Amino acid sequence: MSTKTAFHKYVIELRQLLQNARWDEESLDRPLKTCRLGECAGTCCHDGVYLNPVEAEVLLELSTDRGAELEEL
Ligand code: SF4
Repeated sequence: MSTKTAFHKYVIELRQLLQNARWDEESLDRPLKTCRLGECAGTCCHDGVYLNPVEAEVLLELSTDRGAELEEL
């Protein structure tokens, strides 16, 4: 199964952890949109965000490996 995430390790761990869980699927249906910094001007994340060590490592790798692509977004 393909996923659009940089956090593959978490996806695998969550799948294993929750494989027998019962779900209320409607409660997970939140219409979140991708951030558009040009429109929001950073009003809710301008003071920073909290990351755990794995998230920080993955984002650092992404910014190093794909920085040029990200700058063009
Ligand atoms: S302020 Fe930050 S978190 Fe909020 S929508 Fe904009 S980029 Fe996303």
